[in-house]
Amino acid sequence: MDDIVIVGAGECGTRAAFALRETGYTGAITLVGAESHLPYERPPLSKPMDGTVRMKAICGSDAIASAGIDYLQGAVAAGLDPSLRTVSLNDGRTLPYQKLLLATGARPRRLTCTGAEYALDFRTYGDATEIFLRAASAKSVAIIGGGLIGMELAAVLRAKGITVTIIEAAPKPLGRAVPVRFAGSLHATHVAQGVEFRLGVGVAEITRTGVLLADGTEVPADLVIAAIGVTADCALAEAAALVTGNGIHTDVCLRTSDRDIFAAGDCAAVVQPGGGHVRFESWRNARAQGETAARNMIGHTKPFDAIPWFWSDQYDLSLQVVGLPRPEHQAIVRTSPDGELEFYLDGGRLVAAAGLGPGNSLAKDIKLAEMLVAAGVVPEPEALADPTVNLKAVLKSARAEAAA
Ligand SMILES: Cc1cc2nc3c(=O)[nH]c(=O)nc-3n(C[C@H](O)[C@H](O)[C@H](O)COP(=O)(O)OP(=O)(O)OC[C@H]3O[C@@H](n4cnc5c(N)ncnc54)[C@H](O)[C@@H]3O)c2cc1C
Repeated sequence: MDDIVIVGAGECGTRAAFALRETGYTGAITLVGAESHLPYERPPLSKPMDGTVRMKAICGSDAIASAGIDYLQGAVAAGLDPSLRTVSLNDGRTLPYQKLLLATGARPRRLTCTGAEYALDFRTYGDATEIFLRAASAKSVAIIGGGLIGMELAAVLRAKGITVTIIEAAPKPLGRAVPVRFAGSLHATHVAQGVEFRLGVGVAEITRTGVLLADGTEVPADLVIAAIGVTADCALAEAAALVTGNGIHTDVCLRTSDRDIFAAGDCAAVVQPGGGHVRFESWRNARAQGETAARNMIGHTKPFDAIPWFWSDQYDLSLQVVGLPRPEHQAIVRTSPDGELEFYLDGGRLVAAAGLGPGNSLAKDIKLAEMLVAAGVVPEPEALADPTVNLKAVLKSARAEAAA
């Protein structure tokens, strides 16, 4: 097979291009990336080590060249014709493909209120550079949206001594992906650090001097940032009449409704065993789906079944979540000097875990929890709650039981 085209040179598309070579594919690979940089990682943008944004490249131009990847930097795929199997670029070029990967990621959701144009988005290196440049001379910043990105940004700006207000329409921050226990701990940490919260109230208007809220009050701010989530970039897929919803719909092998087109990463909504399609927005998911899509484009039929995992750093705390915790799960808490872990049981089976602690203190336990989830264990709740019980021992005995 020849001619694989990948649209989107983010974590997913770039990882897919390298994975193709690692799996032995020798044909042509064209990686089309709209941004005018080498492929880079987004997570460090909201966690600058000393408050200065640095670009962390996923790979150097040498690595791209030696892998024989034709990287079209700053090129936008403007059209897709599945019947001719071609992608057309905004500079007039047309790329034929035999297999195509859509790794177009996601775009910031836009505010619709009056003055929305005064709020800065936070998605790209360019966005981060502008935000931190303007924050350097700002005394006060209003962040609209109390999700992970807004909270991470608040932590960084507070460390610079800036007055930060988070405006969130829901009654609590971090309501979406973070288990209630840890959302509460992080909220309390931000309050202790001096972040102001305006919760349960919408935005009426953004002005040159701040944000006017729906309750008539005003949050004065030199700088306003919109962090109200993202929407999958489905533009090409929709124009080509592929099936989309909350993302580009794929089967378990990440194939779209066209058999020669795959989708992966933030833009892909993957069919679930119980029905429906789920889209994840996390670094590891983008990477893992890119690798799976690469294999499947060259003839494998590997279902995507990686356990979801993400992390977030705020102040000196690191949150990690593995699996998909749900409010209806039985939650078991383990407290240790390293922080707190929470395990989630569904009918006795361990299906998810989360932890919050300083730095990397809980990374090893979360890794072991992930292995326990993968092993499908039915652990003793008492053992999970007891910090003196080593999770490695729980895993070992689960494996021994399975082998018996
Ligand atoms: C500030 C920030 C912090 C984050 N922190 C974390 C974290 O701590 N932990 C975590 O797990 N996840 C984090 N994430 C999420 C994670 O970075 C994303 O899930 C991941 O980058 C998604 O990768 P992707 O390749 O699917 O999409 P993207 O990274 O969105 O890449 C898609 C690329 O495709 C390009 N593109 C789109 N359409 C076209 C087109 N038509 N032609 C050419 N190119 C196109 C886009 O310009 C973009 O460069 C963070 C994200 C952000 C923005």
